[in-house]
Parts: sequence; C-alpha cells; structure tokens
Amino acid sequence: MLLTRLENDKISTLKLNDLQIKMKDQITNKVSDGTYTFEEVSCPVCGGSTKEVIGKKDRYGLYFETNLCSDCGLIYTSPRMDQTSYNEFYNAEYRKLYDANNTATETFFLDQQKRGESLYNYLDEHQLIQKKNMFVVEVGCGAGGILKVFKEKGHTIKGIDLGEDYINWGKKNYDLDLEMGTINDFSFEDQKPDLVIYSHVMEHILDLDKELELLKERLHKDSLVYIEVPGVKEVHRNYKSDFLLYLQNAHTIHFTLETLKNLFTKNGFKMICGNQFVRSVFKIGNSDTTIVNDYNSVKKYLLKIERIHKFYPFTTTAWINTLKIFYRKLKSFQ
Ligand SMILES: [Zn+2]
Repeated sequence: MLLTRLENDKISTLKLNDLQIKMKDQITNKVSDGTYTFEEVSCPVCGGSTKEVIGKKDRYGLYFETNLCSDCGLIYTSPRMDQTSYNEFYNAEYRKLYDANNTATETFFLDQQKRGESLYNYLDEHQLIQKKNMFVVEVGCGAGGILKVFKEKGHTIKGIDLGEDYINWGKKNYDLDLEMGTINDFSFEDQKPDLVIYSHVMEHILDLDKELELLKERLHKDSLVYIEVPGVKEVHRNYKSDFLLYLQNAHTIHFTLETLKNLFTKNGFKMICGNQFVRSVFKIGNSDTTIVNDYNSVKKYLLKIERIHKFYPFTTTAWINTLKIFYRKLKSFQ
C-alpha cells in the first residue's frame, strides 16, 4: 500500500456530528449485510488493470479502496459500490454525511453562487463567453446557485439534478428553470446548449464514457463544456496536504488535469484550457487520442505531500491558514 496511514481501521479523520456518525454506522451496516454490493472495475479511463493500492479508507473511516493506474496515472476506486448501491446511498445518506444537512439552505446557495462567479470569471478571462445570450445547461445543478449568476448576466439557463429538494428550493426561492433528471432525460433538440457545466459532478459518475457519449449527442459544433473537479495535485493547497482529507466515498475517480484530459480526448473532445484546480473547458474535436501517462508525476506528488503532511503544523501554509482564520474572526467582530 502506497500510503500505509490509510489502512482500513475505520477511524474518521474528521470530527463527525451525531447525524454523521449515525449515517456512517448505517452505511457500514449496509456494507456488512450485503445491502450495498461492490464491483471490481478496471481503470475507467485507459481500461488498464495494472494498479497500485494507495489506501483502504476515506476521510469518514469508511471502507474505500483507492488505486493508482500504472498505465495512465488515474486514481480510481475499485472495488467500488455498484450503481444500484450508489443510488440508494445518494438517497439515504450522502447529504447527511457530506453536508451534515439534508436540505438546501441559503448558505449552501450562496456558496454555489460564489462558485458561479469565479466560474464565470474564469470563462471571461479566457474569452469564452461567446455571446450575450448563451443557452447554459448545468448537469448536477443542486439548488442552481451557479446558474443564477449566468441568468443575471442575461443568459438563458436550464439546470438538471437528481436531488428533488434542492431543485424545488431553487425554483421556489429564485425562480430558476431547474428540472429533475440526468442528461439522458433531455434531448435538447429544439435548442442545443452553447455551454454545459459539470461542476464537482464528474467524480461522482460511474460510467463516464456513456455520459460523454450522451453529452456529445446534445452539443453543437461550437458548444463548450466546462468541467470542474477537485484536483489531486491541489491537495497541498485545499486539503492541508492531507490526501486522506480529500477522499470521500462518493468520489470514485480522482482527476489531475492530465487524466481528465485523457478521458475527454479518448472520447473525441479537445481541451481549450485548463489548470490543476481543476477547471477546464473542452469542445468536440478530432484531437490526438493518445493517453498520456501521468503515473510517475502523480506518485511523486502523493509521496511528497505525505511527507509534508507529517510536519504540516510547522509549515508556512499552516501558519498562513491560521492567520487567515484569525483575520476572519477579527473581521466578524467589527
Ligand atoms: Zn488507466
């Protein structure tokens, strides 16, 4: 095992509240009694089966086997829960475990809106806001906070998501055009989207090739696809250099910009721009479909942050973060 600290000892690295502990126990029981079943999969990007085990638990202390593909450098979960099990998990436990909450709130919405603003700015900086009235579709829109930003700037929006409560919240409070479903439920024959957004969604999808095939059928030749995922190579910035803190059982794939690009080029897309955050934009195009192997770079990065993690409280980043928290507290008193 690459990171021996990540053995399956069931210990959570996060402080869980009562609701989260209840959910964790519920999931563990469903795994033990066979309600949740697992499937062994080969690498979802290159199809390879040579892999190195990185760890065997996630940040909640749930059984979660993470592997590094030797052929392309993708980090993926296998064995993983199958689609039926994940469907029940999203219905019964996901939000309560992840957000420690079960319904959309104003705070959740404002956070989505903030992410929408920075997403919009990213596109604007790269001259990718193609026209004044784009048709913008978001897959996995939650309560629609990201789309509200586009609507306010004069674009036509449509959000789709499987979470009924979140959709109803966004419709009721902000009159947004949101509907239940997945990309499979909408053909967009009358009007094809100019921009499709997947923000923190791709890492939850089990059959990515199928998703991209369906997506392609719904695009016109100039449509842009914006993909945002939590980047593996930003763990030092966003997760206190703790790879374990980054792992949650709802994410079965963990991308770097390179491995995300591999997935899209394999499926007939070309990358317009991207960074390790990961923020990226793709469009349909016959680009080179060669898989670039990111294995050495990913492994080196994981081992490096693991060393930093041991001494994290003494690092400059830790001190900067402490100062930031102190500054925020100070500001809230004023
Ligand atoms: Zn692979």
